[in-house]
Amino acid sequence: MIPLAERMARTIRMTGPLPVSAFMTLALHDPQSGFYATRHAIGARGAFTTAPEISQIFGELLGLWCAQLWHDRGCPGCVRLVELGPGRGTLMDDALRALRSVPAFLDTLEIVLVEASPMMEEIQRAHLRHACAPVRWVRQWSEIEQDRPLFLLANEFLDALPIRQFVMTARGWCERVIATSEDALSFALSPVPLPLAAPARRGAAEPGAVYEISPAAEALVEGISRVIAAHGGGALFIDYGHAGDGFGDTLQAVEDHRPVDMLARPGNADISAHVDFAAIAESARRGGGKSWGPRGQGEFLRALGIDLRADRLAAAEPAHAQDIRMAVARLTDRDAMGTLFKVMAVTPPEASQPPGF
Ligand code: SAH
Repeated sequence: MIPLAERMARTIRMTGPLPVSAFMTLALHDPQSGFYATRHAIGARGAFTTAPEISQIFGELLGLWCAQLWHDRGCPGCVRLVELGPGRGTLMDDALRALRSVPAFLDTLEIVLVEASPMMEEIQRAHLRHACAPVRWVRQWSEIEQDRPLFLLANEFLDALPIRQFVMTARGWCERVIATSEDALSFALSPVPLPLAAPARRGAAEPGAVYEISPAAEALVEGISRVIAAHGGGALFIDYGHAGDGFGDTLQAVEDHRPVDMLARPGNADISAHVDFAAIAESARRGGGKSWGPRGQGEFLRALGIDLRADRLAAAEPAHAQDIRMAVARLTDRDAMGTLFKVMAVTPPEASQPPGF
């Protein structure tokens, strides 16, 4: 099989440099060599570890968050629970277990997992084979009907969606692209500047400033917000990200829990970018919904009662009490995942403040 880097180089020589977004799409989703298509991405033996893999309480609290919003809306019948990019299926497994305490909500649910990778879907199916409610899979969000209240969870999903990068030069904003030099892949700038205007909140762009946008994430959130505004429900987006002020290159590649050169062996590393929560909030507003946050993951989980739940778990399993407390600290501490990771909610415009905000 021809390595992905070589196939990319051939394409570039034939049709020109690739925007960062096209490179990311191939590196993550190429059917033969893409990272998510072919690797066991997540967990201690994968490239990186995510919040649901650290503590079962994470998924439990997110599931109960949905049930609370459903209850506040007067318990509508026939609602849909969707998770985007479910990884190993751990979050949904934990959420459904917690929701056994709200059987009336479980009974109304149609559960849909959105997973691009057939290999990841297999892992999720195995994990969820004893789930207490039927689950179905689709490859993309656009395959889901838009006919009923929607509850949606997305942890570390938006960061995996492709971004475009623009660099301020003397000529104006030029797109950062992947070209070839001496047969290796290398970063370059597109020669022709684009008539772009970065949002005023970012401030003045000095030469060398990097401006990132994710048209894919913005379109997705706008569409989700439109369904929630029309039919009710609520969405939670949890990711590492920023408030959309200032400029900077946040594209990163991680292999075996370590940063690596993303052009060296595309397909072997996870590639992601920090989420611009201001752009996500604007997308939600365009869709007609209301956005809440972003709030630090630590504050959000504490407001939902993570400490109380940890105390109960520790009392029930004294042998694991220390591990349970360490996991909670990792999810909530400022110097761990507590502030770098942020939570944003989308609700219908008339909804009252959701739990945790
Ligand atoms: N939410 C999980 C995993 C995050 S990793 C957790 O918290 O552990 C990203 C997940 O999204 C993987 O399952 C990956 O295969 C999937 N994915 C990435 N890009 C996708 C896309 N464009 N469409 C659908 N699924 C995608």
